Amino acid sequence: MSNAELNELKRKYVANGAASPATAFADHAENAEIWDADGNRFIDFAGGIGVLNIGHRHPKVVAAVKAQLDKAMHTCQTVMPYEGYVRVAERLSHLVPVRGHAKVMLANSGAEALENAVKIARAATGRPNIICFDGGYHGRTFFTMAMNGKVAPYQTDFGPMPGTVFRAPYPVDYHGISEDEAIRGLMMALKTDAGPSNTAAIILEPVLGEGGFYPAPTTFLERIRAICDELGILMIIDEVQSGFGRTGKMFAIEHSGVEPDIMTMAKSMADGMPISAVVGTDRLMDASGPNSLGGTYTGSPTACAAALAVMDVFEEENILERSRALGEKLSKRFNQWQARYAFVDNVRHMGAMAAFEMVSDKNTRTPDAELAGALCRKAREEGLILLSCGMYGNTIRFLMPITIEDDVLNEGLDIIESCLESLI
Ligand code: PMP
Repeated sequence: MSNAELNELKRKYVANGAASPATAFADHAENAEIWDADGNRFIDFAGGIGVLNIGHRHPKVVAAVKAQLDKAMHTCQTVMPYEGYVRVAERLSHLVPVRGHAKVMLANSGAEALENAVKIARAATGRPNIICFDGGYHGRTFFTMAMNGKVAPYQTDFGPMPGTVFRAPYPVDYHGISEDEAIRGLMMALKTDAGPSNTAAIILEPVLGEGGFYPAPTTFLERIRAICDELGILMIIDEVQSGFGRTGKMFAIEHSGVEPDIMTMAKSMADGMPISAVVGTDRLMDASGPNSLGGTYTGSPTACAAALAVMDVFEEENILERSRALGEKLSKRFNQWQARYAFVDNVRHMGAMAAFEMVSDKNTRTPDAELAGALCRKAREEGLILLSCGMYGNTIRFLMPITIEDDVLNEGLDIIESCLESLI
């Protein structure tokens, strides 16, 4: 079917389908390129929002999934377990830097991992409250939407929210929120709102994803670790967007050396197959009763086969080194743009988790979300998929496959440069 025909079906039959403009429909994809239903080619700098760190349809993942399809597609983990689930658990246990011996539960999406992390934290501590951060994003299920720092559009139509979620500031130096101020806000949320002895967990992203690609300073993470230890609160790190090599290490928290109690992950874990994980210290992961976690599809055999293949690819293809090299290349180009264009500022990257901001005035650092939107729209017209994000809506974020070929990367960056030129 053509893009036009598919848009008509979307408008008519898909929930909210008429609310968004007509768009290109993906037909097939390979590494960092997508072709639409009309045969147009796009360069993919979004990676399905951080899902495709090793590229669309990595051959080793495709082969592993096909092999699993020939054996069994589903038995349900609780009815008759299978090798893939326990092998993913074993490998993640060794890979993830949580405290002590780690155990694993698998789910289907990032939000589900976060929901389960909260359940586990409550079971382990017997406390109800959760503290999360401005700019944080954790999903669209009921509890995770309540944890999101950004209210609209996630919470707008769905109130009331659970009353056990409290929020603290996230440090963003560029926008005047210092680490000390963020810690003061956190202590206030803890002491006056949530209550230390009623707080089960502090949940944060080590690099804000949807909130704008702002890395937390190492000292901020260390201070949260110390606060958690002092007050018997669990530290939960959400690596759904920053994990699996995006930042040049397997997980972003490794840059700090801080060991959380629990970590959540999803997205690039299985190259597009729906799977997520909660990894935590064994004592915590064993805190709730038998059959209290999981669901019909959690850790499905095909998704587990893909996850195992992804972990092989990381071991065999220098993905972490390539992530760091990609980050350097991006940063070099961004720095040129920052020097040349009055509206490009705050260039930053941690490995390939790279971004810059669109501002209307570099002196006042005034975010220009409209200009960021215009850049992404223009890029799309030129065949480049580019995403903006952020609590100020003005961050241009880069989530292309780490495996992107040099010529495709340069072609995409040249498109951005010509779009920036046109915005002068
Ligand atoms: N946590 C973070 C840090 C995320 O970036 C996202 C998705 N953008 C989620 C959780 C939710 O994941 P999902 O959309 O798979 O539910």
